[in-house]
Amino acid sequence: MTTHDAKTTTPTMVRAPMGATVLELDWADGHTSVLPNAFLRGYCPCAGCQGHSGEIKFIPGNNAEIVTLEEVGSYALLFNWGDGHSSGIYTFRFLRRLGELSAAEQGAAGPRPAISRTVT
Ligand SMILES: [Zn+2]
Repeated sequence: MTTHDAKTTTPTMVRAPMGATVLELDWADGHTSVLPNAFLRGYCPCAGCQGHSGEIKFIPGNNAEIVTLEEVGSYALLFNWGDGHSSGIYTFRFLRRLGELSAAEQGAAGPRPAISRTVT
């Protein structure tokens, strides 16, 4: 179980080419998560975007251009967005969860669910 968890939350490759509208993350278990930039930005987990509620809500409409991204420790990614926002720390576990959510959505309309803080 521990081994499985480690593989599903260990990225082996991150692709976010300049001008692209999606981020691709390859994981150690062979899975690839495809995350639209706007989807990622909407789920920014920082307190500035989310307040102090226990859930992370999708907040649409913010700048979704990824200027740069950096690894934080060896557990998370931090994005620098086109409007200068850069306080969201996306843990690998949270990114994996977002990937599942994005894949399940398949273009379906409707409200996006809030995500529990326990996965971050
Ligand atoms: Zn934020």
